[in-house]
Amino acid sequence: MTPEVGPHPGMPTYLGMPSFPVAARAAVADSQLRRNLAHATHTIRAKRAGAVGELADWQELRAAAKAIKDHTLAHLDTYLLRLEQNVTSAGGHVHWAQDAAEANAIVAGLVRAAGADRVVKVKSMATQETGLNEALAADGIGALETDLAELIVQLGHDRPSHILVPAIHRNRAEIREIFRREMPDAPADLTDEPRMLAAAARAHLRQAFLSAEVGVSGANFAIAETGSLVVVESEGNGRMCVTLPQTLISVVGIEKILPTWRDLEVFLALLPRSSTAERMNPYTSIWTGVTPGDGPADFHLVLLDNGRTTALADQTGRQALRCIRCSACLNVCPVYERAGGHAYGSPYPGPIGAIISPQLRGVTSATDASLPYASTLCGACYEVCPVAINIPEALVYLRGKVVEEKRQKHFSPERAVFHASGLVLRSGRLLAAAQRAAAVGGRLVARSGRIRRLPPPLSRWTDTRDAPAPPHESFRAWWARTREGKQ
Ligand code: SF4
Repeated sequence: MTPEVGPHPGMPTYLGMPSFPVAARAAVADSQLRRNLAHATHTIRAKRAGAVGELADWQELRAAAKAIKDHTLAHLDTYLLRLEQNVTSAGGHVHWAQDAAEANAIVAGLVRAAGADRVVKVKSMATQETGLNEALAADGIGALETDLAELIVQLGHDRPSHILVPAIHRNRAEIREIFRREMPDAPADLTDEPRMLAAAARAHLRQAFLSAEVGVSGANFAIAETGSLVVVESEGNGRMCVTLPQTLISVVGIEKILPTWRDLEVFLALLPRSSTAERMNPYTSIWTGVTPGDGPADFHLVLLDNGRTTALADQTGRQALRCIRCSACLNVCPVYERAGGHAYGSPYPGPIGAIISPQLRGVTSATDASLPYASTLCGACYEVCPVAINIPEALVYLRGKVVEEKRQKHFSPERAVFHASGLVLRSGRLLAAAQRAAAVGGRLVARSGRIRRLPPPLSRWTDTRDAPAPPHESFRAWWARTREGKQ
């Protein structure tokens, strides 16, 4: 059974998380979690490969998407102002939020102004990032997640662990138990059959949709040319959230913008195949401002910065802002497959989380400083990314930033070791002495040619793998003995 990791009521969801190695150690020891993850990621991975393989021009589409996103990011100020102008002229309202607290305060104020004390939500990474549900709860406003997997996470007092499949760490039996425990209207004879579970959730949500006065959404894309917002999804809950309530509030990261309507064509071909392995999404909802008598009468777009302009200013790191949250990189990552999403301490798990979170939040916390190391640098994420984000390059770059941050603030044992190593390697005499000492020391602690345990700080290596014992004789000593006749 996966341990409960839910936030305390009223507390921002991702505050005070442990570093990746600490969190991952617990996750790796959970065999049920590993089975759930391995089954799910292998299934999605294989389906995605099939869906992508159907398109002969996949690489050209990928290059086009990269070029569109890079162009947009280079002219982001222009396109954001154009978006604002077109949303406003279509009857919507645009709000600018510099950080999470400002975004949450804007949303809470709008909900109160609408006279509501609860909202229905379609899955939104941006509001997970700002901790909106917790902020609304502190203000006496209830938020109901309506995406099936998000509902499972919410009812389980849990955290999402995957971008696309937030409850990927739960199996059917666990979901049935959560529904029976937390959903008062769940049928008494509920089984763990997927159809039964979906029907129970549908019945639970339907009344909430019909009575909700305020809907909260994110958006996959925002089109500057027309002021349109786009949400793609599979269940239809998003369609209900953005059409049934009288007030709609969309919280959207500033990087989600596309310059023109035509650009959308490229991304609607790439996103479903990369994420759910579908040729097109079952539901694609697009709206522009408000239309009298059709959908919400009041539309608010909250444009969220929250560290994005800092990432944008970084020539290497800014490529992370191309991400369209397809989750393909998670499903191929050997680290994610074993550690699961909670270990990343952020709403963005997996390889993209390892490069986006340290840029949005900085590398000062233990969690964020550990994330660039949560990778084998195998490159599988780069290969599948539909917008060609060079994640390994960004990881190595961010590791450099972490080292620099530590160097400026703290004494670094790693740096001291490398400094001492430099002194030894520059002197033939010291190197020979060190090799002789290592050979003697190795003989004392090694068993069958392996060293199981080394003292700190070298123990950080042997904590997770054995070290090979140093040879009895170094190459230099062997050469001197056999070729130069020295002992
Ligand atoms: S980094 Fe690329 S593969 Fe990963 S979620 Fe973003 S777009 Fe998808």
